Amino acid sequence: EAQGRNCRFLQGQQRDGLAVKQMRDAITLRQECSVVLKNYRKDNSLFWNNLFLAPVPDERGDITHYIGIQTDITAQKRYEQELAHNASHDLLTGLPNRSLLRDRLSQSCNISQRYAQKVAVLFIDLDGFKLINDSMGHLSGDEVLKLVTSRIVALIRPGDTLSRIGGDEFVLLVPDVQDDELLPQLAGRILTTIAEPVTLQGQEIQLTASIGISVSGSELTEPMQLVQQADLAMCRAKQLGRNTYQWYKAEMDQLLSKQLSLKSMLRKAIDQQEFELYYQPQVDAVTNELVGLEALLRWPHPEQGFISPEEFIPVAEDTGMIVEIGQWVLEQACAFNYQLQQQQLASVPVAVNLSSMQFQRSEFIEQLQQTLTVQRLAARYLQLELTESLLLENIEYVIEKLHRLKQLGISIAIDDFGTGYSSLSYLKRLPIDKLKIDRDFVRDIVTDKRDAAICRAIIAMAHQLDVKVVAEGVENDAQAALLGKSLCDEFQGYHFAKPMSAADTEQFLRYYAAKQQHRQAGSQQTLLLVDDEDNILHALKRLLRKEPYTVLTCTSAKQAFELLALHDVQVIVSDQRMPQMNGTEFLRQVKDMYPETIRLVLSGYTDLRSVTEAINQGAIYKFLTKPWQDNELREEIRAAFKRYAGQTQQTDR
Ligand code: C2E
Ligand code: CA
Ligand code: CA
Repeated sequence: EAQGRNCRFLQGQQRDGLAVKQMRDAITLRQECSVVLKNYRKDNSLFWNNLFLAPVPDERGDITHYIGIQTDITAQKRYEQELAHNASHDLLTGLPNRSLLRDRLSQSCNISQRYAQKVAVLFIDLDGFKLINDSMGHLSGDEVLKLVTSRIVALIRPGDTLSRIGGDEFVLLVPDVQDDELLPQLAGRILTTIAEPVTLQGQEIQLTASIGISVSGSELTEPMQLVQQADLAMCRAKQLGRNTYQWYKAEMDQLLSKQLSLKSMLRKAIDQQEFELYYQPQVDAVTNELVGLEALLRWPHPEQGFISPEEFIPVAEDTGMIVEIGQWVLEQACAFNYQLQQQQLASVPVAVNLSSMQFQRSEFIEQLQQTLTVQRLAARYLQLELTESLLLENIEYVIEKLHRLKQLGISIAIDDFGTGYSSLSYLKRLPIDKLKIDRDFVRDIVTDKRDAAICRAIIAMAHQLDVKVVAEGVENDAQAALLGKSLCDEFQGYHFAKPMSAADTEQFLRYYAAKQQHRQAGSQQTLLLVDDEDNILHALKRLLRKEPYTVLTCTSAKQAFELLALHDVQVIVSDQRMPQMNGTEFLRQVKDMYPETIRLVLSGYTDLRSVTEAINQGAIYKFLTKPWQDNELREEIRAAFKRYAGQTQQTDR
C-alpha cells in the first residue's frame, strides 16, 4: 500500500512541526539529517520513526534525489521512557522517589504561595521494620512495603503525592491545605490502616508507624526543609513510644543544632581526652557484700560542667564515635580492675556498658581479647552490659556472638530490662548471667503495686532460667526491703553508693572491705531445724537453700542441745509434736540456756492453750502452722534473724 506514496502519509493528522522543519532545512542546505517522527500505523496506533535522510548527487555533484531510511524505534523509545520513570520512581512500590518528591514539593510551594495556601508534609516511618526484614527475610519485607503503599494510596486524594524516599520511609505531600486540623485526622487514618493485621509466612503480625507532620509557613527558604522538619517530628513520635504522630515544633530544630554542636564538642573531647570513668558498686541483696562495679562514663566539660551520658551517648552513637569512646572505656575499666586486684581492694567483675555499634563490629571479640591481654585482666573479671534492643537486632548472629564471649569467660548482663520487648522464650536461648531491672520499675516500687508485680515477675522468671537479678536505682531502705522480699539477688543505687571517680572508689573500697569483715565476723547466720520427720527437714532445707544461713538439722531435742552447744545458733524452728519432748517444752528449756535465740514452733495441730502459754512466757517468739506457705515461712525466718540482729544491736549500745 505504501509503494509509490510520499511517506508523509505516515504522519497522520498532527504533524510534528519541529521535526518537519529540521527536514526542510536539511533539504534546502543539501545536508544529511536524522529526525525522530511520531508516525501512525493504519490502525492509528503510534510508532516512533527514526528517519535518516541523505542527498544523492550525480557525477556533476548536483543533487538529483534523496534516500530515506526509516526505522521503527518504538521499543527503544519505550525503554528510554521507562528509564526516565525509574530515575524518578521507586522500583519496588512504583511510588515517586526523593528526586521527584523534591520537584513536586518546590512546584507545590510555588503554587501555594501564589494562592495563599499551605503545603503539608507527613513523614511516615514504619516501626520495627528492620526486625521484620532480618527475621523474615527481604521478600517479606518487600511485601510489607508494597502492602503499606497500597493501603496509604487508598486514603489519599489525586493531588497528593506519596513517595518512598528510603527503606521504610514514606513522605506524603499534601499540596493544598486549607485547614490544619484535617492533618491529624489524616495521620490517624494512616496509622489505623497500617495497623490492620498482615499475614506473612502464615503468621499474623501487626505493623505500626510513627508520623511527623510539618506545614509550610512563611520562613521556608528551601522546600526540602519541610521534609527535614517532618523527619524530626517523626523521631519525636518514635521517642514517645511509636505508633503515633507529632507536629513539628521549632524546639526540635534547636535540639538538632544542639546535637550538631555536641558532635563537634565530642570530637574535641576524644582528641583531648576529656572523659573520665566513674564506678558504682553493686552489692549482694542479703549480705551487702560487694559483687561488682559498673563503669559509667563521665564528661566534665571545661566550660559546661558535667554533660550527662544520656545526652552525649546517643550523639556519639549516631556519629559512630562511640566505637572509639567505648574502646577507651573498656581499656580504662580493665586497667582499673586489674589495679584493684593487685591492691587486694576487690576481686569482682567490672561491668562495662556496650553500645550496639561496638558489639556489631566483626572484629569486636578479637579486639576485646586483646584488650584483656594488654590490661592483664582475667576474662571472668569483665562483665558486659547489653541492652535489650541490641539483642533483638539480629537474633541468630547475636546468640552466636554471646556464646563466644561466654566461652572466653566473660559474663553478660542485660541492661534496662523490662523497657524493651524481650520475649521470655527468646531469653531462654541467650547465654546470660544477669538481668538488670530498670530504674523505672524500682522508683515507685513501694507505692505502685503494678511496678512491684513487674519486679516480682521478672525476678521469678529470671530465677527459673538460672539468671541473677540486679535492681538498679535503689535509693532507700524501703525499696531494698521490698526487693529483698521478692528475692532480688543484687542491688545498685544511691542507697549503697553513688558512681565515684577511680580515686574515690579505691577509698570507698578500703573502708567498705573493713566494715564488711567486721560485720561478717559478728554475723554468721545459723539456723537450727528440729523435727522428728526427716522428710520435713528435707523440705525445709530445700526451701531455704538460697538463703544465706548455715542450716543445722536434727530429729530430737537431745541432738538439738548438742548442736546448740557446738554452734552459735541464732534462730531455732522446732516441730511441736515429737515423741520424747514436745516443741514448746524443748524451747522453754532452750530459753533458759540460750535466752538470746529467737525460737519458733511449727505445728500441725492447734494445741492453742500450750502454745499461747509458751508465747506468754516468752519461750517462743512465734507459732507457725503446718502445712506452711513457702514464701511466708522464708519471710518469717528472715524476720527472726532481723529481730535477732535488732536485739543484739540494742545490747551493743
Ligand atoms: P545505665 O547503664 O542504666 O546506668 C545507670 C544509670 O543510673 C547511671 O546514670 C547511674 O548514675 C544512674 N544511677 C545509679 N544509681 C542510681 C540511683 O539510685 N538513682 C538514680 N536516679 N540514678 C542512679 P548515668 O551515669 O547518667 O548513665 C546513663 C546511661 O548512659 C547509662 O545508663 C548507660 O546507658 C549510658 N552509659 C554510661 N556510660 C556508658 C559507657 O561507657 N558506654 C555506653 N555505651 N553507655 C554508657
Ligand atoms: Ca548499665
Ligand atoms: Ca540500666
